[in-house]
Amino acid sequence: MYFPISEEEKMIQMMVAQFAAREVAPGAAARDERGEFPRELVAKMAQLGLCGMMVPPAFGGSGVGPVAYALAVMEIARACASTAVTMCVTNLSCEPLLAFGTEEQKKRLLAPVASGKILGAFALTEPEAGSNLTEIACRAEKKGGRYLLRGTKVFITNGAYAGQTIVLARTAEGARGLTAFAVEKNFPGFKVGREIHKMGLRASNTVEILLEDCEVPEANRIGGEGDGLRAVTNSLYSGRIGIAAQATGLLQACLDEAAKYAQERRQFKRPLSGHQAIQWMIAEIATGLESARLLTLSAAALKQRGEPFAREASMAKLFASETLIRSAYQALQIHGGYGYTREFPIERIYRDARVTTIYEGTSEVQKMVIARETLKET
Ligand SMILES: Cc1cc2nc3c(=O)[nH]c(=O)nc-3n(C[C@H](O)[C@H](O)[C@H](O)COP(=O)(O)OP(=O)(O)OC[C@H]3O[C@@H](n4cnc5c(N)ncnc54)[C@H](O)[C@@H]3O)c2cc1C
Repeated sequence: MYFPISEEEKMIQMMVAQFAAREVAPGAAARDERGEFPRELVAKMAQLGLCGMMVPPAFGGSGVGPVAYALAVMEIARACASTAVTMCVTNLSCEPLLAFGTEEQKKRLLAPVASGKILGAFALTEPEAGSNLTEIACRAEKKGGRYLLRGTKVFITNGAYAGQTIVLARTAEGARGLTAFAVEKNFPGFKVGREIHKMGLRASNTVEILLEDCEVPEANRIGGEGDGLRAVTNSLYSGRIGIAAQATGLLQACLDEAAKYAQERRQFKRPLSGHQAIQWMIAEIATGLESARLLTLSAAALKQRGEPFAREASMAKLFASETLIRSAYQALQIHGGYGYTREFPIERIYRDARVTTIYEGTSEVQKMVIARETLKET
């Protein structure tokens, strides 16, 4: 594949690839089996500057930009998708503060997350508001110099371990009545609810967050009242590059495992890779991987250049995740019955892959964005 990346980006990719192979991959199966959060890896990722990759150093980040970020997520996801989503969400939680925070907020609230001192979470989804965020019911009522937040957030990645969670709540009726807040974990009324047991990404943390008249100082409101939807929507566009990169890393893992197994396993007196039906599946996975990588890096490069990238981020996420589902099926098929056991990594990869067409906007939502942006242009 040819995609122009700088020397610095290449070095970051190599550094993260080494870290992923040496430190992330070896424990991935055991963490999945035990449902164990990669706490120690998070600390190491912080040291490597992987928690605030799009945040300038002045505010605690490494500031290496969206292309380096996408390359890094791909390498981590190739080794462990749970660790990759943990990393993606803490990076994502920096975005509203970076775009809408004041100088003071960037120093006080953004820097600890971007430097990896604390982990970030991003709480939009509610029991009755998934794809349609304008149906958010969580209330934020102003009382003197603070807000009282009341409601329930579901499916919150990193929720139990995050020092700070970006919360979208309602200060008035309608789509323009949503406001974003940086909620610190020690604020009175902030509670971590039940853990959600998942099919895949078992080493990532997904919980409910209960806001029981949670007291949030006005100083932690991000932007003005009513700016919330704009602040988080722009962040989600960026988040889609992260999930497209996660899916691309998983596609690489599918190819790694399928190619290795096909060359080792023999049937009908030759390696599986000697049968054309298997070669065709390998060819399809490899082509999907190259295409997903190009679309993802292209969307990241647009963001890096300060150009509009919402449509391209949705295309990358849609394509990479849907291609991954088909490729994970094929890679497991190549393993035959052994692919259906816990003895080979492809079983975990297959389960981890499934969610990529769902979170950070489902495939159907990506198509809505792509159609809207395309029709605007034509
Ligand atoms: C592992 C995991 C981690 C997550 N992490 C987070 C997180 O950190 N923070 C957070 O806020 N959320 C998180 N989510 C929530 C995730 O973003 C939502 O699940 C997702 O946005 C879809 O919402 P929903 O599940 O309510 O599905 P729904 O919105 O109920 O959709 C159900 C189905 O209907 C389709 N659909 C809905 N509306 C339309 C329409 N108009 N036209 C066509 N089809 C439509 C959808 O595409 C989908 O197929 C996470 C979810 C999972 C599974």
